[in-house]
This record gives sequence, structure tokens and C-alpha cells, in this order.
Amino acid sequence: MGPEKTISINGAGIAGLTLALALAKFGFRVVIAEQHHEISEFGAGMQISPNARRVLTELGLDDAITAHSFEPEGIDIYRHGKSDPISHVKLGQFAKQRYQGTPYAVMHRADLAQQLYKATKAFPNIEILFGVTKTRVEDLGDAVSVMIEREGKPSYPLTARAQIGADGVRSVTRTESLSGQRPQYSGYVAWRAMADLEQLGNLLPKDRTSLFWGTDYHMVVYPLPQRDQFNVVLVTEFALPLEDSDTPEISNKSLRKNSKLSAIMESISDPWTAWPLFSVKTETWHKGNVAILGDAAHAMLPFQAQGAAMSIEDAGLMATILASETDNATAFGKWQNLRHARATKVQDQSQKNGFVFHMSPPLSWGRDAVVAGKSAEAHLERLDWIYAHDPFEGMVGPNPPEE
Ligand SMILES: Cc1cc2nc3c(=O)[nH]c(=O)nc-3n(C[C@H](O)[C@H](O)[C@H](O)COP(=O)(O)OP(=O)(O)OC[C@H]3O[C@@H](n4cnc5c(N)ncnc54)[C@H](O)[C@@H]3O)c2cc1C
Repeated sequence: MGPEKTISINGAGIAGLTLALALAKFGFRVVIAEQHHEISEFGAGMQISPNARRVLTELGLDDAITAHSFEPEGIDIYRHGKSDPISHVKLGQFAKQRYQGTPYAVMHRADLAQQLYKATKAFPNIEILFGVTKTRVEDLGDAVSVMIEREGKPSYPLTARAQIGADGVRSVTRTESLSGQRPQYSGYVAWRAMADLEQLGNLLPKDRTSLFWGTDYHMVVYPLPQRDQFNVVLVTEFALPLEDSDTPEISNKSLRKNSKLSAIMESISDPWTAWPLFSVKTETWHKGNVAILGDAAHAMLPFQAQGAAMSIEDAGLMATILASETDNATAFGKWQNLRHARATKVQDQSQKNGFVFHMSPPLSWGRDAVVAGKSAEAHLERLDWIYAHDPFEGMVGPNPPEE
């Protein structure tokens, strides 16, 4: 296949793998350069909302996701110091019906990554190079010249139609090829842990997600019954920027005063891992024959559980547009026009959630009254703009009808 039908991708995370699959379905040759030596996803859960699921279904992954995921009945919302929920968000069958049969699910990140990876194996036109130490990119005007350097292996030269950075929040494609900025530290740290489902005992219902709002923290707990485990994410505030190498301690006193949360935390025997949260806001998603997507373009706080979902949406649409527009400037321009406002709106919503989830009295009293006054259905309907979205924007996606 010639350079005009070849796409080079940096990063085999969720965005990179989804993009590769979608492009391969459109007949492109795809080469992915991944720094790790294998597909590696951190051991934690993630929520896959209907908008992301639509893309995964289009890529033929519906059965695989169903087999590895769980559809929670809803989300119970607790406020600090109370052991009964103040409100409920309806998911389960209600969400499925509302979004034309597309469910709201939770799954282990590694399972999603593995299912995407497994799907790429069915395509001889996808090649994944592991152990990449450096990708040198030169924009030739009508194509890109790429040199992929690997640990202990000869360098891999490539001429491609475009170079796509799916290399995450610390994207070198953004900082080097697009002269973009470094990510901004948010002031929050997410602590993640998993434990055996039976250790949860009767502390929480096992058919749903539980969300706890505290004064300067929040916690999300959901079951992953396919793995007999449950997933916990605790978010606390840390004023100072943290680097990956720092290992802060969970020192939140108000959290410890909540007996239910203390019991949940005590039920976890594995160590917590700390994830300082960074975000990226940039107008420059492409230049010449180079573009970025996913966290590289718009890393966001995970408080609306949409970072990966936006990456998946990005990828499905980018492949669809690259397949229909032969000129990269036109294709990337069209893609950014369709994606930027939406990703920014979701970023802003995630940021706002951080403020709302961590409110202290008296503001939290007003918040609680408003939230408790809404029906379980209304809580979901409010988010239709995220979940009911057509990720292909009316275009024919990568799953063309059978001939
Ligand atoms: C606590 C927490 C909870 C979350 N929960 C959810 C959720 O429930 N739902 C949801 O939708 N999202 C969630 N997210 C967000 C989600 O994890 C990210 O948005 C998503 O993983 C981004 O995917 P990506 O492929 O763009 O980037 P990444 O997953 O970071 O992948 C980037 C890939 O590029 C590789 N790479 C990086 N640099 C290079 C290089 N120079 N050369 C080669 N390879 C490179 C990396 O090794 C990696 O494989 C959560 C995030 C956090 C922190």
C-alpha cells in the first residue's frame, strides 16, 4: 500500500488502538509505535458510556465488550456523613432503552485494551511496533517521513500520509511537532484500588455504582463482577503540583470521619496507587500532516468519566473523515471543527463536577436539596447531550453495510 493509504500513529492506548481499527476497516495500512513492550493498561476500572459504545459496536466489538463488562443498575449518590443515598441516577435497562439499545457499562481497563488489541490482530494491515524509544517525524508537505527507533531492534523507516499522536496527556507529538504546551496540574490526585468483591460484604449494593460526595474529596465505587472484584477511585485535593515519582499519602481527615468510607478503605488490601490529575487545553490539534487526538489533545479530569469515551469518539470520526477526504488539511480541519467544541464542553463539565462534588456547607446544603429533588430519570436525561451523541455526525462510520 502506498504512502497515501498509510497512517502512522504514536501510542497504542485506547485512542491509538481504536483509531487503528477504524482506519484498517476503511482499508488503510496502519503502523503504531508504542513505547511499552506490550499492551499495558493500569489495573483499574472504567465506565463505558453509550456514546463510546456506539463506536466500539461499529468496530465489531459489541459482543466482546458485553462479555467483559457489567451494566450497573444505576448510581447511588451519598453525601458526606450520611449512610443512606440522597439520590439515584437510573442506568441499566432505562439507559439502554433511552439510548436505542446501547448500554452504560463498567469494565476493567485492561479488558478493553486487550479486546481492542485482539481485534487489531485480525487485520494484516495493522502493525504494532513495541519498545519504541523515539519517533522522528519530518513533514514533507505531501506526506510525512517517519523514523521509528526501537530498543534492541533496527530503526523502522516509514513514509505515510499523516502522523497521528495518540500518545496521551504527556504527548510529545503535541509538545514537539505542534509546539503545544505541557499539561496543567489540576490540584487533584486520584487514588485507585481494586479488591475482591466479597470483601465489600454488605457495605454497598453490588448491582450499582456508588458515588460519595465529601468536603474536599469524592469517591466512586463500582463492581466488576466478571473479575469478582470492585473498583474504587478516591479523589482528594493536593495544592502542590505533583510529579509521577511523588508518592503522597491519603491524609484527608474528613474522609476518615465517614464510617462507611473508612470500612470500604479498610476492606482494600492491595496498595493504592496515586494518579496526579493533569489536563490539556489547546486550540492546535493539527498542523500540516500531523494531528493529535484523545488525551494528547484534550486530557480532562475524570469526574464525568469521559476521557476515554472522548478518545474513542475522536478516533471513530477521524478515521471516517480521513477515508472521505484525501487532503489532510481539509480532513483535520473538518474533524477539529466537529470535535473541539464537544470535547471542551465535556472538559468544562468534568471540571464543574469537581467543584460540585467537593462542596462544603453551606453551599453543599443547597446542592443536596437540588439533587435530592430530581428524579432518578431526570438525572440521566440531563446528560443526554453526552450519551445520546452520534459520534459519526451523520456520516457512514467504519462498518459499511455488507455487500
Ligand atoms: C482515575 C481515572 C479514572 C478514569 N475513568 C474513566 C472512565 O471511567 N471513563 C472514561 O471514558 N475515561 C476515564 N478516564 C480517562 C481515560 O483513562 C483517558 O482519557 C484515556 O485513557 C486516554 O486514552 P489515550 O489513548 O488518549 O491515552 P493513554 O491511555 O494515555 O495512551 C497513550 C499511549 O501512548 C503511549 N505513548 C506515550 N508516549 C509515547 C511515545 N513518546 N512513543 C510511543 N508511545 C507513547 C503510552 O504508552 C500509551 O500506550 C479516567 C482517568 C483517570 C485518571
